[in-house]
Amino acid sequence: MQSNQDRLISDLKRLKEYYKKHQKQSDITFDYIGFYVLDKLAIDLLGFSFDPFSVFEDPNEIQSLFEKMSCQEINSFNTFMRDNYEDLFTLFNKLNKYLIKIDYPTLPFHKLISGYSEKDFTDILLSFFSRYGNDMYKLVKKYMDEDRIVMSYNHKIGEGNSTAMHIGSKKLKSGYIIMQHRSYNDLSLSSLVHELGHAYDRESFIYPQQKKLREFEDYFIEVPSSYFELEFYDYLIEQGIHVDGANILKNDRYTYMDDAFPAVCSTDKSFFNQREPSIILNIENYEKRSKVREEIIYGIGIYTTLHLQYLRENMSYKEFMKLFYNFISLRKERTLQSSIESLGISYDDFINGTVAYPKIEESSLSLKRRFKIYE
Ligand SMILES: [Zn+2]
Repeated sequence: MQSNQDRLISDLKRLKEYYKKHQKQSDITFDYIGFYVLDKLAIDLLGFSFDPFSVFEDPNEIQSLFEKMSCQEINSFNTFMRDNYEDLFTLFNKLNKYLIKIDYPTLPFHKLISGYSEKDFTDILLSFFSRYGNDMYKLVKKYMDEDRIVMSYNHKIGEGNSTAMHIGSKKLKSGYIIMQHRSYNDLSLSSLVHELGHAYDRESFIYPQQKKLREFEDYFIEVPSSYFELEFYDYLIEQGIHVDGANILKNDRYTYMDDAFPAVCSTDKSFFNQREPSIILNIENYEKRSKVREEIIYGIGIYTTLHLQYLRENMSYKEFMKLFYNFISLRKERTLQSSIESLGISYDDFINGTVAYPKIEESSLSLKRRFKIYE
């Protein structure tokens, strides 16, 4: 899969024309950031820039608008943390204690990751997503046929340690997936499934609903992507495709969920009271907040997915998909508690692990059996 350079060039030309004519504050907050991030991709892939700042008559004004937007986003995340700090602390503290109690294994994995031919890689991808209906299948096919998937990406991706990312534009109603992975194997395939989950979420829910893509505010942003990713491991296991690789990577995700605990317990609640732009936009502070946010958002994403998988196992496919779509499309209007309750799961059960722990224990036992741990 190679990037379609002509497409990227025409996409960026379109965005540049659009922003030359649309410079009101509402136009900029709408999706200018998509233009900016895609331009970064052009610099890395094509070696030249479309100079996003040059479209503005007054670049200084844009700079201050950017800062204002960053502040708003951070303040929304702070509000979320202040509102949910005790609950998240309890949830991740209990989860951490539980994982220690059952001696949940962590496994070294690289040797057990298997490779695929390019044909098998795409066949498995398409057959997995065809389970989710025609729209989902068409989206995946579009990303493949239009060369929107860039593998072997040689540059840094995002702010943290990401090795893959979906970059989208609301104005273009689509995007690209960049991945540092160089070969076709369980890891790159599951990573692509995860990013296609983001593509699907954005193209089907976030863009059409004209919601502003304020990721700091969206604490369930990792739910759709984690859902498809974790379901994909079960698919590989069920179909007997690459059972060990799938189990190893699933274990890796479960273990990763536990990283949210140090993020919450090492950050005092008062950290989320900070509102002063000069403090919150200070680079060190900004980086700490991004890291805390990332770990909490991934923790919530994977933990919530365990509940979705439980529901999928215990209701009809049709009923479940309705609930799942509802959850995704209404998540921003709801609090953490009401989102969970909209699934028919009591918030107490969510915090206390009533649904999640048995699933974790099941995985722990099967790993111990398979890899003969502690026998
Ligand atoms: Zn993600």
